[in-house]
Amino acid sequence: MNKNNFNECGVVQDLLPLYYDNACTPASRKMVEQHLMICEKCRKTYEELKNTTIDTVMESESAGILERHARKERNMAYKAGIVIAFLLLVPIVITFIISVNNGGGLGVFAVLTASMMLAASLVVVPLVSRQKRMIKSILTSVISLLFIFFFVDQMNGGGQFILWSIPTIFGLSIVFFPLVIRNIALPPVLSDKKALIMMTWDTLWLFLTIFEVCNHSGDVEGMRAGYTVSLILMTGVWFVFLIARYLPVNVWIKAGMISIIGCIWTVFTNDVYVYFMEHKKQLTILATDFSDWSNTTCYNANVFTLTLIFGGIIGGLLLMYGIINMKRKR
Ligand SMILES: [Zn+2]
Repeated sequence: MNKNNFNECGVVQDLLPLYYDNACTPASRKMVEQHLMICEKCRKTYEELKNTTIDTVMESESAGILERHARKERNMAYKAGIVIAFLLLVPIVITFIISVNNGGGLGVFAVLTASMMLAASLVVVPLVSRQKRMIKSILTSVISLLFIFFFVDQMNGGGQFILWSIPTIFGLSIVFFPLVIRNIALPPVLSDKKALIMMTWDTLWLFLTIFEVCNHSGDVEGMRAGYTVSLILMTGVWFVFLIARYLPVNVWIKAGMISIIGCIWTVFTNDVYVYFMEHKKQLTILATDFSDWSNTTCYNANVFTLTLIFGGIIGGLLLMYGIINMKRKR
């Protein structure tokens, strides 16, 4: 490569952007083309320039199109939300006029308003809001539902509102609380305790539901049975939860512990329940007799024993595998 050639490369490389944009004089153009035919280095530079330019242009254009599209979509959703909201208002206004003209109470009007609120929470809220649509929609729906309960209850003489609300909130919580808590920002102290908060919340609502349902019907015996069953149930659930979430061991050890606890729980729950409810000490498993599957007591005892044996073996194997794995890692 002589000095002249080196200079030409510099000039050509300066010209390449102009050449690419079709913006240089015919003479320069010709010079660039001739040079590219003989100089591989400049040809490479030109190829690179072409590629990066195309990529950037494509990228920025598609991003622009997507952004415009998204904005258009958002605007349309917003307008649709407003229109639907107005449509929902029509029956409310009509009912209001009718109730006032007939001199009747506003009960039907209130129920209808609350129903429209529910519809709006499910349709308008997701269309109109920009962020956290799901959470807003869920919360406004639940509030609207409670309004409906309240007004319907008022129309029917009152007194049932809490009875209806507590089990409803409990049922909805089981389905929606995980979604809601996953998507909200909590203070740093609480942000890694979302599962714990959810478990506590569900447990409280379970006990509240049992209390309210039994208290309302004055069923003391039912309440005792309900609390006994749910205490046994929730103890098992909490055990499994705490092991799965907080025990600092590997997944095999957790699985082993959970299957062993699961077996023990299955086998002895009924005995514990009988002890608390009827003050009878019994151990179903003692009636195990593998030659007799005809009477219920033996049958249950046989199944429980098999559960304990096989569950114990599986759990034990998982535990062993987990412990070996943990030692190997250290
Ligand atoms: Zn060159």
